[in-house]
Amino acid sequence: GERSSRILQTRDLHKEFGGLTATDTVDFAVEEGELRCLIGPNGAGKSTFLNLITGQLEPTAGSIYYDGIDITPLPSHERVDRGISMKFQVPTLYEDLTARQNLRIPLQRIVDADEFETRTRELLAQFDLLAEIDETPAALSHGQQQRLEIAMAMALEPTLMLLDEPVAGLSVEETAEVAELLRTIQAEEGVAFIVIEHDIDFVETIADRVTVLDQGSIFTEGTIEKVKTDPAVRRIYLGE
Ligand code: ADP
Ligand code: MG
Repeated sequence: GERSSRILQTRDLHKEFGGLTATDTVDFAVEEGELRCLIGPNGAGKSTFLNLITGQLEPTAGSIYYDGIDITPLPSHERVDRGISMKFQVPTLYEDLTARQNLRIPLQRIVDADEFETRTRELLAQFDLLAEIDETPAALSHGQQQRLEIAMAMALEPTLMLLDEPVAGLSVEETAEVAELLRTIQAEEGVAFIVIEHDIDFVETIADRVTVLDQGSIFTEGTIEKVKTDPAVRRIYLGE
């Protein structure tokens, strides 16, 4: 059916590193509550693009609008306050802290001290990690670590979640758990997602629509069926 409104829009978004163009004048939009996957070969500019949206990187040119507001000049923490949350490609868990203590870091931005324990338990239960509340990351499986990272991003109560390769290195079972979790969060909480992922089967399981990036530009976008059967996509992305 018809979607209500755009939550994110980029206009001519551009990023150069020295002489290298990593993001090439990209116009891109995501609707409220949509789950979008971003695919493309290594070096296509996927991580750079998400890092521009969070404000980790500053664009060379162009603009980013969120909820209709130009957020291009805003620092990362103000974008977080507006509802943009990210799980990075590189793990960001604190190795010396338990699951509870890790969650305290994002949660203290959002809830008062007296709500902290309740909210921590709710989040850990949602991510099937309640039994691990007093464990440090080293005691968790790779899948549990990924879920804890997503829980930390969700603790910020985002309206847009950006996930950079959330199932990289996970087993088939762990991947299916993350897919189910993302679908549930999208359905129950109306959160929009942009998910970078290589695993095309995972993409097929979760995506509403897919955007293919190649050499910093949008190569094509559409439904997974359309994108998957596009011979040009199969050439650049699947190496056929
Ligand atoms: P992807 O996530 O699709 O693999 P990236 O966004 O990481 O691609 O990289 C896009 C291009 O930008 C690559 O050529 C990469 O080497 C380059 N790049 C990314 N980050 C930096 C940086 N901090 N400095 C210089 N070049 C970078
Ligand atoms: Mg990347």
